[in-house]
Amino acid sequence: MAKPVIISVDDEPQVLNSIVRDLRQKYSKDYRIMRAGSGKEALDIIGQLKNRNEAVALFVVDQRMPQMEGTELLTEARKFYPDAKKVLLTAYADTEAAITSINSIELDYYLLKPWDPPEELLYPVLDDLLSDWQANFSPPYDGIRVAGTLWSATSHNVKDFLARNRVPYQWMDIELDSEAQLLVENVQKGKKQLPVVFFPDGEVLINPNYQEIAAKVGLKTEASAPYYDFIIIGGGPAGLGAAVYGASEGLKTLLIEKEATGGQAGTSSRIENYLGFPRGISGSDLARRATDQSVRLGCEILTAQEVTNVKLDPPYKVVCLKDNKEITTKAVLIATGVTLRELNAPGIQRLTGAGVYYGAALTEASNYKDQHVFVVGGANSAGQGAMYFARFSSKVTMLVRGGSLTTSMSHYLIDQIEAQENIEVLTNTEVVEVSGENRLEKITYSDNISGEKVTVPAAALYIFIGAVPHTEMVEG
Ligand SMILES: Cc1cc2nc3c(=O)[nH]c(=O)nc-3n(C[C@H](O)[C@H](O)[C@H](O)COP(=O)(O)OP(=O)(O)OC[C@H]3O[C@@H](n4cnc5c(N)ncnc54)[C@H](O)[C@@H]3O)c2cc1C
Repeated sequence: MAKPVIISVDDEPQVLNSIVRDLRQKYSKDYRIMRAGSGKEALDIIGQLKNRNEAVALFVVDQRMPQMEGTELLTEARKFYPDAKKVLLTAYADTEAAITSINSIELDYYLLKPWDPPEELLYPVLDDLLSDWQANFSPPYDGIRVAGTLWSATSHNVKDFLARNRVPYQWMDIELDSEAQLLVENVQKGKKQLPVVFFPDGEVLINPNYQEIAAKVGLKTEASAPYYDFIIIGGGPAGLGAAVYGASEGLKTLLIEKEATGGQAGTSSRIENYLGFPRGISGSDLARRATDQSVRLGCEILTAQEVTNVKLDPPYKVVCLKDNKEITTKAVLIATGVTLRELNAPGIQRLTGAGVYYGAALTEASNYKDQHVFVVGGANSAGQGAMYFARFSSKVTMLVRGGSLTTSMSHYLIDQIEAQENIEVLTNTEVVEVSGENRLEKITYSDNISGEKVTVPAAALYIFIGAVPHTEMVEG
């Protein structure tokens, strides 16, 4: 973790040099001492530190500066770092302003210039303030942070991409966290797009695509060679299985995955029927193990790369990527699985990502703690989803088109659902409409037999209604 920062600000170079020298002499072992010659420069530094989520312990700021006075600067700085200690450097004539700001900006101390000798006039004050700051300080998260709203579909996609690629991140909901909102406004510069992704090196990406994120978090997106013996398209269980065998047989093997290895299985909360895992395994764990295994055996994996076409060039095949690159191979395996089938009802498209989700959306489940959520579908994935959401939500209602679960769901899962008190199953039921201004608020469903329609408040709707094969690249 980077050392917490002490920022000193003064427009007079001599005074600035002198305070920085005194601060370094005593505090550079535990703190990083930074300097700025004006309020504006200081705010730029503060913005950059906040983007990197670095801690600021103390501001030592001159009151009399052109353009921006010390108190004005501290007012702004405090919005970013409310817990940092604030010391104003004043001349005798400024003491009134300093006294006023003790209340208005919660100034911790004003220090009359000069502060010589520092051992008597400076260090005792700062020691006391810094020890107070340290006592309440918890180190900031030093990984990737994603800021957005729960109702922004693009924020959901980015979180989902990171989670499925097993990249840890911290979520900041700007509707609930005013510091995060300020941070976002500071970098958006009028661009109202979400999410904003902050990386530990200070780089900030606004509404990035998967490839940009992949490149930034160190996932491989470019093939290292123009030719492979064996290319696998799709990194679900089928693709990963092929990768393990191709690579272990010594073939130069490349697996290309457009989102995250693990495929659909990677989104499953618990897979109970996979050979070798008697107590079941989470999809994400299975994906991680299979990915590690194929890489260890020598398979190269590209993530966030989509194959758009496969051309024949006998005896070779040419695999074309979305970014127009081409890779040649002797053999191709297309293991692209399926795309989730879309639910066709008014409101669904508009609210997808804003309370309406396809698949398990495991990343979102905890956001609906103690709320009533709905699951559409009656097959195994819907059942597993319902069991998972039941851990967080007060109630889970399954809306099932068929007359019972027995024709579409495994027996063990039906037993689990029946035993779970907060899951309700409504059979012969179809969603006819969803509504809400910026997010899902209500669901209307109908009884297929009586035709009766019911509208109820809903926090989230998870859709699991099967899938269609993903084979456009070899159509025609
Ligand atoms: C929530 C859920 C729970 C499930 N639980 C179980 C269970 O408990 N037991 C069970 O047996 N089955 C379960 N299944 C089904 C199981 O996950 C699938 O049968 C399995 O994942 C299919 O594997 P696959 O590799 O064929 O395809 P997929 O898993 O669909 O993987 C295909 C991959 O190809 C990628 N891809 C697609 N097009 C391209 C392209 N053009 N370029 C590059 N990449 C591409 C996709 O992004 C995807 O990652 C579950 C499914 C879901 C959704």
